[in-house]
Amino acid sequence: MRKTTRLGNEKTVQALHCDLCAMDYLTTGEDSRLHDKVHKKAEVALQSGKIFLTETEWQHLRAHYGPILIAGKSPYSFEERYDAALKVLQYLFHQSMVNCRFNPKHVGLNAYIAMFLKANPQNSSWFITSPDVYQALVEKFSTRAGIKHGSSQYEP
Ligand SMILES: [Zn+2]
Repeated sequence: MRKTTRLGNEKTVQALHCDLCAMDYLTTGEDSRLHDKVHKKAEVALQSGKIFLTETEWQHLRAHYGPILIAGKSPYSFEERYDAALKVLQYLFHQSMVNCRFNPKHVGLNAYIAMFLKANPQNSSWFITSPDVYQALVEKFSTRAGIKHGSSQYEP
């Protein structure tokens, strides 16, 4: 996505959006240098398989699968809601990676899920309509300390 931003009255600079880093940045100066730095870390995370979606893709997951997870047992089957929960967790994981600017110390997806499950238990808004999905996720991923209660952000 390319757009033009006008700074002051005279100076016009290009503003870009990066779909990997989920960053808006200007093509010159400090902004551009910050994006280069973050982008290199994002590339490393992508090449190692730690992240695997672009912003367009992970934003879509929440919009599409969030309502299925939250709708509960009717009208969605356990399998549909379990699958939706995994997609929502991928969304939250990618958002957490973006928020810490792809810090290499951020945990991988499976550890993140275990931490999310401890921070957001069965009675949290994510799982209150799908306690069966919560239980199944805990059996598969276990729970682990590392994310603040009620939060979805891992802070390396
Ligand atoms: Zn980038």
